[in-house]
Amino acid sequence: MKSKTFLLLLMMALFVMPGIASAQENDPDLPLKLNRNFGYGGLGKIQGRFTLEVETLENLSRVEFFVDEDLIASVEQAPFEYQFHTEDYSPGRHVFSAIGYTSDNLVLHSAQISRVLLTSEDAWAETRQMIIPILGVVGVVTLIGLVVPFLLGRKKDFKIGAYGLAGGAICPRCELPFSRHILAPNLLVGKLARCPHCGKWSIVPQATGKRLEEAEARFRAADSPLPVESPSEESLNRLLEESRFEE
Ligand SMILES: [Zn+2]
Repeated sequence: MKSKTFLLLLMMALFVMPGIASAQENDPDLPLKLNRNFGYGGLGKIQGRFTLEVETLENLSRVEFFVDEDLIASVEQAPFEYQFHTEDYSPGRHVFSAIGYTSDNLVLHSAQISRVLLTSEDAWAETRQMIIPILGVVGVVTLIGLVVPFLLGRKKDFKIGAYGLAGGAICPRCELPFSRHILAPNLLVGKLARCPHCGKWSIVPQATGKRLEEAEARFRAADSPLPVESPSEESLNRLLEESRFEE
């Protein structure tokens, strides 16, 4: 007889208790939110200043806020909220919850909000872990943009009059014509390209046919590449002017 009672209690413990526990978790009566005031918050990990907030319900007269099992605040009027800093508590996982009391003696439970509190050093480390791969990707893309046209540009020798799909450009330093590579990165006023004559990197717009003819004449006149003075303000203005008309 005794063992039967024990078995019955055991069955109740196994079947009834989890039922109560999950009912509390899945269907909270008290809507509790954790809002960030400032700091770090990502993937269940937080650092900084946060506010636990309970929506104001009818008849709600008091809200108790808990961290783990400890009562941290009892608020007796709206707004029902409690602000804290993650450094107020030990680093690691903590569970936040709230219990509300109504004027007609109902006790309302909130869902449990589980978060890992980080130290500020850990939050920085996490931020770096997220940012560095992004910076890495940006860096690699930039590098490809620089290296690919450089490698492709080296294979081809300049042929007068042959400019390809991206059109011809005129080097702002040596003022000789060259073809812009179709894959070269576009940067606002033109494509980033390396002059095959003097080796200067510059942002060059597509040159007009007339200016290319002038530059071709200069190229024919000079048997070998001549180092010419650095671009004058006038020629830079002209480059900007032309790119404006062509876009
Ligand atoms: Zn040049």
